[in-house]
Amino acid sequence: MAAAPLTSALGIDIGGSGMKAAPIDLATGTLIAPRLRIETPISASPAAMVPVIARLVEHFAWEGPVGITFPGVVRQGTVLTAANLHEDWIGLDAVAAFGPVIGRDPVVVNDADAAGFAESRFGAARDVPGVVLMFTLGTGIGTALINNGQLVPNTEFGHLIVDGYDAESRAAASARDREALGWKDYSTRLSRYLNELERLLWPDLFVVGGGISEKFDKFGPRLTISTPIVPATLKNQAGIVGAAVLAAERAAEPAPEHPPGHTPKQAPEHA
Ligand code: BGC
Repeated sequence: MAAAPLTSALGIDIGGSGMKAAPIDLATGTLIAPRLRIETPISASPAAMVPVIARLVEHFAWEGPVGITFPGVVRQGTVLTAANLHEDWIGLDAVAAFGPVIGRDPVVVNDADAAGFAESRFGAARDVPGVVLMFTLGTGIGTALINNGQLVPNTEFGHLIVDGYDAESRAAASARDREALGWKDYSTRLSRYLNELERLLWPDLFVVGGGISEKFDKFGPRLTISTPIVPATLKNQAGIVGAAVLAAERAAEPAPEHPPGHTPKQAPEHA
């Protein structure tokens, strides 16, 4: 008998200041229970943060799939960059680190990828055909590239070099605060960055996320870009929702016949 389709999964969003979790209804992308937020430990090290993940899962007494976002590059479950967290994360197999404490292997993905995927499923880019580029403006700039609903992970366009600078150091929301830029000047900065993305990617739509997207009316109309742009609609739940849905979809996939990257040996040919 075929297994009953999954209807819910737990999403966890790891950030530099908070770690948040909620169970998600997979059909609607909405929260089934109120979100729990726990402060990120000051050291932001794996040793301090792994137990917090365990507490979040225990709080919901969760038995199903778990998806976890991480604010850096995560390739096949291994963390490769961690700009705003402890350097001990770099090179860590996050699935192997979280699995034993939560009782099952989670799916671990980049935070902006999870948010962009959620926006394409349930939010601002729902049913939008073609190439959608979501970017999140916060401490850094995260990006998610989605083509017809399919995510291309770990794009890291926030680190594009524009005019000799790492783009996020000039155009993230943190740069606006640090340099006390008014909306006009910040819009000029952001336009410069988005023009570069347009020149390289020619997207059909930009979706802007991060807390600053709630002030979209202050900077959106001032942007000198040719691509349509809309603010994200799932707000600070996008990461949790995307992680949960990606985890559920992975759980529903048939197990691969061979581990990724493993080339099966060919049987020797008989003469
Ligand atoms: C990281 C990205 C991340 C973004 C938002 C950037 O500094 O390189 O991986 O998605 O910040 O957290």
